[in-house]
Amino acid sequence: MITPVDTITSKNKWQGFAVPRLTTRLGATALLTSIFTTTTVAWGIPASALQVQVTPLKPKLGDTLSVIINMENGSSATVPKVTQGNKTYPVFQISPNQYRALIPTTPLQRSGEKPIRVMAGGKQRNLSVQVGWRKFPVQRITLRGNKAGLRATAYELKRVKEFKALRTPQKLWNGPFLRPNKGRVSTIYGVRRYYNGKFAKNYYHRGVDYAGWSGSPVIAPAAGRVVLVGKVSQGFRVHGNTVGVDHGQGVVSIFLHLNRINVKEGDIVKAGQLIGGVGSTGASTGPHLHWGLYVNGQSVNPVPWRFGGIK
Ligand SMILES: [Zn+2]
Repeated sequence: MITPVDTITSKNKWQGFAVPRLTTRLGATALLTSIFTTTTVAWGIPASALQVQVTPLKPKLGDTLSVIINMENGSSATVPKVTQGNKTYPVFQISPNQYRALIPTTPLQRSGEKPIRVMAGGKQRNLSVQVGWRKFPVQRITLRGNKAGLRATAYELKRVKEFKALRTPQKLWNGPFLRPNKGRVSTIYGVRRYYNGKFAKNYYHRGVDYAGWSGSPVIAPAAGRVVLVGKVSQGFRVHGNTVGVDHGQGVVSIFLHLNRINVKEGDIVKAGQLIGGVGSTGASTGPHLHWGLYVNGQSVNPVPWRFGGIK
């Protein structure tokens, strides 16, 4: 099931589907060491001083681009700057001579060339990453009367917006994410919709739904800090009872429609720790867990985070 939550948080503009690409390979995660096409190197400084790797090797819409910058010994004092188009992304140090930026891609974007620029210590690399088109399933929904139903309260919108804006420097996750509920996946990430025959251009399913039975355990897929606990009684009318976990470095998970909550704001949770139970609170027509994974404010496909992982 998909709740109206997915439609109220979008600010992205629909840019239309590009022509489907012929490549079909799924989420390769091998490191790509020579993706850059042009290089600007200051005179006298070896080209190896600023090495950049982008994974996955053949990204598709919905994937998270991981831009890893390897600095030479002694040059890591300067935090590199990473831009994609006209957006600047947060860069965090992940090891003594290594920095990283995570760039989300979504079904609302065009496939094709993504120019990424990395600047550090007076040096610059211009990369061109090819993001492939991915076919997302389409649902056709007929709404009769005022079935559009519940409207989010200003309170829940404010809390969720603040939650998605978190860019905590500390990295709390480690390795692949766990499945947050044992129920079967009922709706995958990225599903697009028509409402009464009209394409909802800003809508995509911003997460994965698990059809777990009512009350079945919901666990933290990765370590993090509980930074959002929202309850129907406080105004979480559409999201329902909600838990938000900050994994750090711009990566956050949100869990919706819970029937109970086992954590409180400020708690540090481990991967696998119980955080709540599956429910049908808020704008939901039956028990299910909606897990949304956001990277720098955009909902990304959790699948590559579950399998393989993003280190
Ligand atoms: Zn959902």
